[in-house]
Amino acid sequence: MGEEKNYDLIVIGGGPAGITLAKKLGPNTDMAVIRPEDYSLIYCAMPYVIEGLIPINKVFKKDELVTDANADLIKDYVKDIDFDNKSIKLSDGSRVGYNRLIIATGAKPFVPPIEGSSLNGVLSFKTQEDLDTILDFINSNESLKHAVIVGAGAIGIELAQALRSTGIEVSLVDMEKSILPSLIDSEMAELPAETLIKNGIHAVLNAKVVKISGSGYIENIYLDNGKVINFDDLDKCSINGGSSLNRVLVFSIGMAPDISFIKDKRLKTGRGGISVNEKMETSIKDVYACGDCVEFKSGITGKITPGKLATNAVTMAKVLASNLLGEDDNYPGFYNGAATKVYDYFIGGTGLTETEAKKQGIKTIVGHSQLTTQFPIMPEAKKLMVKLIAKKDSNILIGGQIVSGEPVTGQIDLLTFAIQKKTKIKDLTRLSYSAQPYQSFFPAANAIILAAEDLLKKA
Ligand SMILES: Cc1cc2nc3c(=O)[nH]c(=O)nc-3n(C[C@H](O)[C@H](O)[C@H](O)COP(=O)(O)OP(=O)(O)OC[C@H]3O[C@@H](n4cnc5c(N)ncnc54)[C@H](O)[C@@H]3O)c2cc1C
Repeated sequence: MGEEKNYDLIVIGGGPAGITLAKKLGPNTDMAVIRPEDYSLIYCAMPYVIEGLIPINKVFKKDELVTDANADLIKDYVKDIDFDNKSIKLSDGSRVGYNRLIIATGAKPFVPPIEGSSLNGVLSFKTQEDLDTILDFINSNESLKHAVIVGAGAIGIELAQALRSTGIEVSLVDMEKSILPSLIDSEMAELPAETLIKNGIHAVLNAKVVKISGSGYIENIYLDNGKVINFDDLDKCSINGGSSLNRVLVFSIGMAPDISFIKDKRLKTGRGGISVNEKMETSIKDVYACGDCVEFKSGITGKITPGKLATNAVTMAKVLASNLLGEDDNYPGFYNGAATKVYDYFIGGTGLTETEAKKQGIKTIVGHSQLTTQFPIMPEAKKLMVKLIAKKDSNILIGGQIVSGEPVTGQIDLLTFAIQKKTKIKDLTRLSYSAQPYQSFFPAANAIILAAEDLLKKA
């Protein structure tokens, strides 16, 4: 056996969590980050490479994000961890030792184990390979092409628009009755869904893909409502080299934690990933985990909830880093503030949707408002819609949604903070706000306050 190099700290994974840990801990720690990719990607921007808005090299993160922080970068894949001997096995069989270990291996797109899911052209959307395959599909010489995206969440919708912008026929399938089901409720999704359809995307809702048929490549996609998506208008597909595909199906229905390489069952896991406490400690001493590979509780309900977002991964990594630097920090839980864009609409959601709250047995009251993004007399004023959700017994804010003609992340973050601080709706009606002709409605009204007042009328 070759000599085993030892580090005080090893991070497995070079995504947002791994990079944050390197930046915070690298300057004071003898550490290494291990990840297999040539380049770590800015996943959020991948749809805009498909659209041709940015070249592919712009989504490659620089290795210096890790190495400038004085952390070693090992480009390799971890095959197993020996927790007893504090040793990691790399893909070539060599080993690296650690004193403390952080698992930040993220998550992989979930592809359902249905018939036909391994056919040529059945894809997911996360890796550079996925991106290259979709770029090949776009750039192939076939005159007619059809992409079916399964999952109308933010990633699926952004990819659908990007593919449609290149002239490809696009169908968007989701088993829920409205688009963006984990971000906004159905009434808030109506206008964005109309825009998708107006722009030529076939939205197929209330339908689940149950089978894909074909020999070599996809011929038919079977839905649970009895309907079939076929590609009759396309030429018969030639599968030489994959790049001549004229049909693809991209699953974008959620992520599963990337932890199957860890065989030791003493590392406690749940369906959503590695179990950690608020300090990001796992069930094994000196082993920590954060980011998409862990499961965690909602900051609102205290129950385990999905939360695979870069923003959550970075915050978990910061909490862990400050604990490893000797502070006493706790991760408060997922609030899941997030945003997307559907053509001219900027859309954001935070906390629980009304639908999710009901599913969890929480009694709710909701309020709506509709104003404009600028003074309505301004030439560029656009629609702005807000929905607030509160707990019925206490009138405490537990969710917010915005559909607007202008960016929403600022207002969504304000609502998230209000949820984190357990704000009562009455207090939200006294929010001190700003107004200016280009940036808000008239000083006479504010959309968040109006929605809060609407909610109180029903309390
Ligand atoms: C297309 C797309 C768009 C997105 N858009 C947004 C958005 O707009 N906003 C948002 O907040 N989030 C978005 N996300 C989610 C976000 O990218 C993830 O939540 C985030 O990347 C999680 O960070 P992480 O560091 O936990 O894991 P990852 O970024 O998944 O990184 C995990 C790393 O671990 C490595 N790894 C895994 N297994 C091993 C192993 N055995 N050995 C060595 N290395 C290993 C991986 O190769 C990778 O480098 C998007 C995701 C996708 C795919």
